[in-house]
Amino acid sequence: MRSRVEDREFDVDVEGSGAGGGPVAKELAPLSREGVRIAVLEWGPRLRDVDYTGRELEMAERLYRDGGGFFTRDRTVTLAMGRAYGGSTVVYTGTSLPIQGRTVARWAVPGLDHRDLGERSEKYLRENGAHLLEEGELNENNRLFREGCRSLGYHAAQFPVNVRGCRGTSLCNLGCPNGAKQGTHRVQLPEAERQGVAVVTGCRVERIEEGACHVTVENPGFGLPSPWPPGRYRVRTRLIVVAAGAIESPALLARSRLPVRLPALGRYLTLHPALILVAQHDRPVVGSRGHPKSFICDAFAESHRFLLETCMYFPFVTARNLIGFGADHAAMMGAMDRLQMILALALDPALPENRVTVDRHGEPVVRYRLGDEVLDSLHQAMLASARIFFAAGARRVHAPAGARFFLVPADAARLEEAIPRRRVRPGRISITAAHLMGGCRMGEDPSDSVTDAWGQVHGLDWLYVADASLFPRAAEVNPYITVMALADRVAQQVRERLARA
Ligand SMILES: Cc1cc2nc3c(=O)[nH]c(=O)nc-3n(C[C@H](O)[C@H](O)[C@H](O)COP(=O)(O)OP(=O)(O)OC[C@H]3O[C@@H](n4cnc5c(N)ncnc54)[C@H](O)[C@@H]3O)c2cc1C
Ligand code: SF4
Repeated sequence: MRSRVEDREFDVDVEGSGAGGGPVAKELAPLSREGVRIAVLEWGPRLRDVDYTGRELEMAERLYRDGGGFFTRDRTVTLAMGRAYGGSTVVYTGTSLPIQGRTVARWAVPGLDHRDLGERSEKYLRENGAHLLEEGELNENNRLFREGCRSLGYHAAQFPVNVRGCRGTSLCNLGCPNGAKQGTHRVQLPEAERQGVAVVTGCRVERIEEGACHVTVENPGFGLPSPWPPGRYRVRTRLIVVAAGAIESPALLARSRLPVRLPALGRYLTLHPALILVAQHDRPVVGSRGHPKSFICDAFAESHRFLLETCMYFPFVTARNLIGFGADHAAMMGAMDRLQMILALALDPALPENRVTVDRHGEPVVRYRLGDEVLDSLHQAMLASARIFFAAGARRVHAPAGARFFLVPADAARLEEAIPRRRVRPGRISITAAHLMGGCRMGEDPSDSVTDAWGQVHGLDWLYVADASLFPRAAEVNPYITVMALADRVAQQVRERLARA
């Protein structure tokens, strides 16, 4: 790599190209025709169609930060974050749910109301082609979930997914090899580029300051090479929009040593801590055929603070989430084509001690404590899922905190005993998170927020945040549509700012 630092110059830098950065780029793109120079600086690679091989470990390495194995500091939660042209929208499942009014009320951010977020969410639902799958497109895993919920009287609803020409290969979390899933890499970024926005992949933003950001460009060794030669650059710019996600955005601001005090920076991180739950049927389920996700059960969202959704996981991730080993583990994995799967998401509280900081190299360190409230939710989620599995006809259920590896239908009558709360402990069960939120939360008061309700960092009129780090609390539903709606507000603010200038 060259040691000389090269200069580049733009008017607006958008840092990150996922659910936040993509919409900002597309919304600002028409300004390119008026001579405003806009760049998206994206750390991850831009993959070609042939690079989507569908092979689990290979794609995890190509598309996820740390191959999908980024841990919290105490190693009790694994965090999944996409790192590519399109960010996590390349690997998301496409569940397209707008935020609920009661959640926006809980957020209590002056200047942010549900009507505005709702209208902007609608715009992105349309833009991304979100729709309900036809009955004939639902796979057996989804139908079993609906049946199980219905027979127990649990409210379960079908949600829209954002696919166009889905071929039902179920590979969404490894990047869609058929170009069907509508992430920012398919919708917003190509549109922005058509209008003149430059997207620089393989480009990690190391540090920002007023008037410039400092980046390193490297080629990933797969996908398309970065449009800039490998090396270090100073990118001069008037405005910066940070959209690097809920872990990297607070880390980037922290290592940049900004000339303002931001005591809430990195704090109030929420994760929707999740469990992957599985059960074995006698007949084929084959969740790997058809689109993986279509149903949500929100019956316990208020009473026990968790959601249940359909899901499909690949062999490595599934194996990692089963608690135990040996013959039982092998028997469960051997029955992959007969497994029903449910994803349980705890709706975690926003606490100041759950936070992102940086180590001495400027790399993010995530401190997140799984408190009793979250563990209670996960316990209740295991009980409810076991009931649904048995009601749907499962022969053997694996509950991560179960007293035995397999629970059988006879256990259904005494689940509290079969899945004791005391066994739900951090480190004992495998917890993952893909809904990473907060760290640069919006608000009015700089003592407990980082940006205003329009994403401008308190005290710095050249710096905006536009991603999931803006969330003041958990989204309480799958978050990407809300990230886009918030990014849309930030883009509007930046446009108005440029017009005034
Ligand atoms: C496996 C998986 C499945 C999911 N499924 C769903 C779903 O079905 N529905 C839903 O609503 N949500 C889903 N989500 C969550 C959703 O994808 C995220 O909430 C959303 O993408 C967050 O948007 P963001 O802009 O904050 O971050 P991201 O979309 O993650 O984008 C951040 C981007 O910034 C880049 N970046 C990071 N650091 C730097 C740096 N220093 N310099 C330059 N670039 C940088 C990253 O490479 C990345 O491309 C899923 C997430 C995952 C991981
Ligand atoms: S299920 Fe549909 S959206 Fe998902 S990877 Fe297959 S074709 Fe793509």
